[in-house]
Amino acid sequence: MKKLYAVIGNPIGHSMSPIMHNDLFSFYQIDASYLPFQIKSEDLKDAVDGFKAIGIGGFNVTVPHKTAIIPLLDEVDELAASIGAVNTVVNENGRLKGYNTDGPGFLKGLQAFMSGAASKKILLIGAGGAARAIYFTLAMEKPEAIDIANRTVAKAQRLIDDCPYSVKSEACTLEEAGRKLGEYDLVVQTTSIGMAPKIADQPLDLSNIKKHSHVCDIIYNPLETKLLQDASNRGANVQNGIDMFVYQGALAFEKWTGIFPDVERMRENVLKQLGGLHVNR
Ligand code: NAP
Repeated sequence: MKKLYAVIGNPIGHSMSPIMHNDLFSFYQIDASYLPFQIKSEDLKDAVDGFKAIGIGGFNVTVPHKTAIIPLLDEVDELAASIGAVNTVVNENGRLKGYNTDGPGFLKGLQAFMSGAASKKILLIGAGGAARAIYFTLAMEKPEAIDIANRTVAKAQRLIDDCPYSVKSEACTLEEAGRKLGEYDLVVQTTSIGMAPKIADQPLDLSNIKKHSHVCDIIYNPLETKLLQDASNRGANVQNGIDMFVYQGALAFEKWTGIFPDVERMRENVLKQLGGLHVNR
């Protein structure tokens, strides 16, 4: 019987996950379909109960349900529990188990470009949901330090205080981070600044950036944010958010099927779709 997979969120209309996963199911000749469902917060429990009743294979979870879903699941893996957010659920013999593949997806995407985070001095810009997953995952890699710059510094400090993995970290303002930018080997931008349609904005001044540092913006629409253009013009290596998106999806697909999929195929598929998005805007 055909298996069902899904992504739930609100809104969900622009999710690229259905096209990405349906292409993989067809490519690997797996009899399954992946559908988007727009679920209101007050309907989340009913949606999860319904998925369980019909024997869903698994589903992705996106904004605003990544934290609210935790008490509705039968089990949550250690990393997802410590982050406090689930983006992938697997039906394991009738029990729904939650995972977080955002942080590990970011790390895998990063490793495709550089040797990893160990012994690097890192600046994380932003302290929202995505930053939390990335910070906890990077902390486990034991870098020299991970400082967090955020508009609301108290939120950056809370993230540091909440992290169960020990790493040297300081919270600071975006302006302070701009002044000491020359210290960092890796800069990871996780705020929504620079995202379409406000593509002319960037979170901080890059005048002091270290040449040959690696700058990663997890935004992928536009593919090259103002920050990445500026960093590239100043001699940094740059990477957009496509890798994180594709690898978080690849890790979810692997948990559901046991197959680690062809990420190049996934990337091309997403890029094709984003081309369409740009034309529409
Ligand atoms: P979030 O939890 O709402 O966090 C938003 C962050 O942006 C916070 O640090 C917030 O600062 C900051 N921010 C927002 N507007 C700002 C402004 N005008 N000035 C300064 N700071 C501002 O969002 P999220 O879920 O972490 O997502 C953040 C971005 O990551 C989005 O663009 C999303 O599309 C992208 N993302 C990409 C992937 C991927 O796979 N590539 C995955 C997840 C998310 P305050 O704390 O001060 O409010």
